[in-house]
Amino acid sequence: MNAMPDIRWRHIGNVLHLLRQDGPLTRADVIDGTGLSRSTVNQHLAALAEAGLIRESTPAESTGGRPSSRYAFQPRRAAVLTVDVGATGVELAVCDLDGAILSRSAIRIDVWRGPDAVLSVIWDAALPLLEAPHPELWAVSIGVPGPVEVAARRVMQPPIMTGWDGFDIVGWFEARLPGLPCIVENDVNARAIAEARLRGLDNLIALKLGTGLGAGLFFNGAIVRGARGNAGDIGHTRAADADAAGVICRCGNEGCVEALAGGWALQRDLRARGREAVSSHDVVGLVQAGDREALRLVRAAGRRIGDAVADLVGILNPSVVVLSGQLADCGPVLLSGITEKVHAQNGPISTGELSIEVSELGDLAGVTGLAYSAVDHLLSPAGLPAVLSRTTYAAV
Ligand SMILES: [Zn+2]
Repeated sequence: MNAMPDIRWRHIGNVLHLLRQDGPLTRADVIDGTGLSRSTVNQHLAALAEAGLIRESTPAESTGGRPSSRYAFQPRRAAVLTVDVGATGVELAVCDLDGAILSRSAIRIDVWRGPDAVLSVIWDAALPLLEAPHPELWAVSIGVPGPVEVAARRVMQPPIMTGWDGFDIVGWFEARLPGLPCIVENDVNARAIAEARLRGLDNLIALKLGTGLGAGLFFNGAIVRGARGNAGDIGHTRAADADAAGVICRCGNEGCVEALAGGWALQRDLRARGREAVSSHDVVGLVQAGDREALRLVRAAGRRIGDAVADLVGILNPSVVVLSGQLADCGPVLLSGITEKVHAQNGPISTGELSIEVSELGDLAGVTGLAYSAVDHLLSPAGLPAVLSRTTYAAV
């Protein structure tokens, strides 16, 4: 492995990054934007065009003089398969190099059935997407609801993923899609990447509120991972209120926020009050039907989640907190408690320009963020040598 990408790949990466971000651009724009010499830019534009990643077009302008060619990134040059594994469901999508979803499907699973059973169901769902017409597949990107050691590409000690600890999920996919790079990311980190990129923000917290609870922390333009990949795991921090004592969490600890305010805990409490609730979807249905117990419990859950989020807001100072996951469909019933606590526990310097909102991407934030991660890897100085050495492309 070549650990240090040489300067050439960094320069090509810069040219491509500029075209992805600001294109279409003229040759002069690229020279200005990268600070590279004309001959270097010429060389790199030619290499990228040959690989099909950019295309040159001459606008038909009649302003006198010869119009300059413009170079545009070609997002449909290739695709990535994204697999967003949740506790009870999986979103699969084939996305282009801009993260746009070309085809998708969703399935139900129980993640605690373990990797072999779950991955074979996922593979059955992926095959129709892979067999349908799509641009050449360049990578696979998998999201999982547990801490990920990115360097080791493994799930580490996930509190809810029984049997997945240390499982080689990357190896599993690489054995079935040989030759394709495969990356693995925590599910809520992927959501944070998508939400931040779409808003053009550098400081944002994404909450996934479903069966479990988690936060993705995107600060100074990058995911905050922590020493073991577990940063943002608000679900298994201790709830602030007295009711938390004696409530056992599915992670084995006592009094976790999730054990009082997670989707599974709300189902438990609604069943204890005679309601039929076996999924987070049922919880949302009861709220939308105006069930008084459901409304009361979800409002209380919002305040408990708000307590945990308030600390993060005070410490990290995001500009947006964005909610997704099934419980986010409770809308203002859940949101109001979070907003109330975040504002009550922080001063105006933290909250004055803070927006707390429900995601417009919803559960597609996961696959979108996974696509961005994979493409950023492919088109980075470390990924570009493999991408540009592909010879199967024929320009049309
Ligand atoms: Zn816990």
